[in-house]
Amino acid sequence: MSDFSYIDHLECTICGREFPYDGLATVSECCGKVLFVRYDLPRLRREVDRSIFDDRPSNMWRYNELLPVTDAGNVITLGEGGTPLLDAATLAREVGIRRLLVKEEGLNPTGTFKARGIAAAVSKAVEVGARGFTMPSAGNAAGAAAAYCARAGTPVKVFMLQDAPDANKKESIVAGSELNLVDGLISDAGRISVGIAAEQGLFDLSTLKEPCRAEGKKTMGLEIAHQLGWRMPDAIVYPTGGGTGIIGMYKGFQELLELGWIEGKPPRFYAVQADGCQPIVKAFNDGTDTAEPWPNAATKADGLRVPGPFADYLILQAIRETGGGALAVSDDEMVDAMYRLAAAEGIIACPEGAATLVGLERLLADGSIGADEEVVLLNTGSGYKYLDLLRGPEE
Ligand SMILES: *Cc1c(COP(=O)(O)O)cnc(C)c1O
Ligand SMILES: [Zn+2]
Repeated sequence: MSDFSYIDHLECTICGREFPYDGLATVSECCGKVLFVRYDLPRLRREVDRSIFDDRPSNMWRYNELLPVTDAGNVITLGEGGTPLLDAATLAREVGIRRLLVKEEGLNPTGTFKARGIAAAVSKAVEVGARGFTMPSAGNAAGAAAAYCARAGTPVKVFMLQDAPDANKKESIVAGSELNLVDGLISDAGRISVGIAAEQGLFDLSTLKEPCRAEGKKTMGLEIAHQLGWRMPDAIVYPTGGGTGIIGMYKGFQELLELGWIEGKPPRFYAVQADGCQPIVKAFNDGTDTAEPWPNAATKADGLRVPGPFADYLILQAIRETGGGALAVSDDEMVDAMYRLAAAEGIIACPEGAATLVGLERLLADGSIGADEEVVLLNTGSGYKYLDLLRGPEE
């Protein structure tokens, strides 16, 4: 019998120092930066064959051996993950590429891929003793936190930006979280959230300031490899805010490679950001290892409005080590691409996801991506949360 989780320890992503995972974990005490969960991969490789995943229910917990929750009874789930990898043949013809796939994350509970990270983080935190949470968010993460905390029966205080989409405010309210609106930036909401957590003995769920949201998002990479018959695409185009998805997927592919379950090179990761908030693009172009906070960040794509990502160095590593890149697109281009994705493929995408189509076209035009390649676009959420960006019949 294999273990439910092959979790082994935590590791500082700056200096490599190891820590036991025996309580609530935040950032590394040595360097104050991101902690990665590490698994006993040699033992997993000996004890488990990748074919065991085939017959399990199609949700992210089918990869439980590579997730941090140690007891199956502690999993808090709404059925997240197991989303389709859609073959977008019409769009592929339109943009001129051999094979285009869309990972459709809009089908997750609460309508975005945030569900994966929050399900993992809330499950693990409750397992190791959390009794309540705080959550700063531009919108979608808070909605997911509200839903999963309701499911867990634990309270959560949400600190959401004043101008977050209506859908996010309402989902937080209906799921019973305490919604606090913040007049400021995501960094301000983050500071308030961490402060209240410390003061009131709550656990703060800020992305990459605890190790498990990246583990949840990692399952997108595991699924893509599995859905392709245990291989990787040439490139992944990803709408990048805090970077949890890019960092998580890259980590996931590295684990699969180490397990010998896939072979070859990880896909090239391309980070797409918004013209009005592109700290990673600037850092990539400047050749720096970290990103400067982007001043006066503004974009309709709320998931991309992260002016100073805490894990900037890990995003840049994932892009550079895989030979990928970073580029920014305008809000108007994103909205236009929402129409094109829906008309060509029936995919009602969020503006962040639609941004990847614009990014792909740009990357094809400048030769970064070749016409003979196989590329995955990440549609990170459902367009139903952004109906105000779409036209009605009278307009
Ligand atoms: C949060 C969010 C993003 C950015 O995700 P990261 O993994 O933090 O970079 C992209 N799209 C949507 C819809 C989001 O909610
Ligand atoms: Zn360290």
